[in-house]
Amino acid sequence: MTNIDTPDSSLHHLYSPFAALVEAAIAEADHECAGKYTGFVRWSPFETYRSQARQEWLYAQGRTRPGPIVTYKRGAVGLHPAGLACDAVWFDEKGVPHWDGPYAMWQTLGHCARAQGLAWGGDFPSFKDLPHLQPTPAQQIEWLPSARAYLHSLGLD
Ligand SMILES: [Zn+2]
Repeated sequence: MTNIDTPDSSLHHLYSPFAALVEAAIAEADHECAGKYTGFVRWSPFETYRSQARQEWLYAQGRTRPGPIVTYKRGAVGLHPAGLACDAVWFDEKGVPHWDGPYAMWQTLGHCARAQGLAWGGDFPSFKDLPHLQPTPAQQIEWLPSARAYLHSLGLD
């Protein structure tokens, strides 16, 4: 069950070979950031799978609905609806998620993602999407059909 206005943070709703690399990248980023940044406790997925309906709802934000623009992708375009993208943010000791903090923290997340062979949104040429991890273009070609079949088997679109 996914709600249009609620992010799904379950790694089980990502294609499992991708989820395994995300978990490894986050574990390494936890290790690298521990004790270095005020308030930092851990990195954690904030949004993994995103339904096409939610993607459309997010696309409307800043366009036909108030709020800042948060995505440039519509509907099924993009990798969150395919279970092949994860937005990871850091959490403090109160369990509050953060999109702020020193840029070096985010570079660490990106470095750890690249070390697992993933692509990092901070490397995108236009819209810098610091929390965003996704497969490389080659991995996308290899994984997309199986990822879609996996989500379908879970009853997700
Ligand atoms: Zn994302």
